[in-house]
Amino acid sequence: MNKYLVTLGLSTLVLPLSSFTLASGQDDVDATIAKELERPLTRALDSIQPKRIQADLHFLASDEMRGRDTPSQEQRIAARFIAARLQRLGWEPGGKDGYLWDYELPTVAIDGSESSMDATKAGESVELGLGVDYAFYPNSLSELDVSGKGLVFVGTGTKEELEGLDLEGRWTLCRHSELRYTKVSSNARKAGAVGVIVLPGEGMTATEMEQRVQTWGKQVTEGRLNRGRGNSKARPYVYMTEAGAQKLFKLAGSGVPELGDGLDVALTEKRVMLAESTAGLENVIGIWPGSDPELASELIILSAHYDHVGANSDGTVFNGADDNGSGTVGLLSVAEALKAYGPMRRSIMLIWVSGEEKGLLGSAAWTKDPHLPGGLKPVANINIDMIGRNDARSLLVTPTQDHDAYNGLTRMAESYRAEEGFDKLGSADAYWSRSDHANFSKNLQIPVAFLFSDIHEDYHKVTDTPDKIDYDKIARVSRLVVRMLNGLQADSLSL
Ligand SMILES: [Zn+2]
Repeated sequence: MNKYLVTLGLSTLVLPLSSFTLASGQDDVDATIAKELERPLTRALDSIQPKRIQADLHFLASDEMRGRDTPSQEQRIAARFIAARLQRLGWEPGGKDGYLWDYELPTVAIDGSESSMDATKAGESVELGLGVDYAFYPNSLSELDVSGKGLVFVGTGTKEELEGLDLEGRWTLCRHSELRYTKVSSNARKAGAVGVIVLPGEGMTATEMEQRVQTWGKQVTEGRLNRGRGNSKARPYVYMTEAGAQKLFKLAGSGVPELGDGLDVALTEKRVMLAESTAGLENVIGIWPGSDPELASELIILSAHYDHVGANSDGTVFNGADDNGSGTVGLLSVAEALKAYGPMRRSIMLIWVSGEEKGLLGSAAWTKDPHLPGGLKPVANINIDMIGRNDARSLLVTPTQDHDAYNGLTRMAESYRAEEGFDKLGSADAYWSRSDHANFSKNLQIPVAFLFSDIHEDYHKVTDTPDKIDYDKIARVSRLVVRMLNGLQADSLSL
């Protein structure tokens, strides 16, 4: 699940609904076909076992996989694990050359050796180290060269604290607090300050600040996916460790400052960018060819993102067991279930995408340039993301009846959910733009359904670990997906 609201165009909501009618359930399937389908379906459902799912997740969400960040070596390992499973189960490769579908994204990085923060006073100077003494937010990087003729301590940086202080052309120095950084930043800018330096304080201990500085320093110098360049005219907002601050205090010849105290040192911060580069990324794709001469060209796409948000430089890992280790292993169990089922009438594609947490990038890349061997034509997408937590009987879906993109997939999920032990499906409409189905809907203009078991207290925290997962729930959601696939073999599905 993506943390940020991805803004999609209005076109997202306009689907060719009129041209798409689905059977409401197995009732509408011809009785003979229904009987034929029954045995393979039972075999498929039986193959989905919580213990197998647990084994896969304990590998993919282990500390050793270091949070499957985009891009990272561990993400590439995860991709190969998935690809090997597809191969073993006899799935056809769905990439241009094997199971991995490659794409590239631009990356930007700060030149660590040329970027610096220097303080001088009367011919004496000290240099502060990026990633050691100070750092800045890793997104929206840009060149910068900002000097201030002194520093003024402004408490936590509220408007009241800044009142009456001469900040023109100086840096403000403040303690971390509950006050939002945008507020602190705008208060300082209005007072004429050249930039803000934040020291440990309320809500951030000295140790936490050291970790942040290390992590962000490493991220900006190693390179980040380019999510839009920052504004080189923007005023710097710098996080500094206690040790870094002590260097400044020592040079200024002052003790720990109090509200309104000035430090008579000139301070310059310079950021130099390296030339833009690219990162090679991978989606993993398998195809289960359909058996019906008429219907096999129609492709039903199941998706789940296999990336998460990585690790801290202190070694703590964002395991992402639920987000989205759960959906990743759920799709693996569907791969196994179809092996037990045998060919379906329509073709099925499983796609594990990367880059979801950075802004649904892997699904955007594929849906804008889909590789569809043999002229396959996508007709529907079911996306699963975070399906292993919260109440065992609860599951959410979008689009619901209240959503403009409402379609037969949701009705189908509703008609089968009781058989897998779920109460009436709740609404995930508020999460419409937050996972990859949004790109399948927007860029391929096909009906989509998103199955999701809601966020929780461990969402995007280092505590989203495999021991907290309800493996039976992942199994039941996966079986629900297989039931939907089975239902989608009816003749009456037409575009
Ligand atoms: Zn997420």
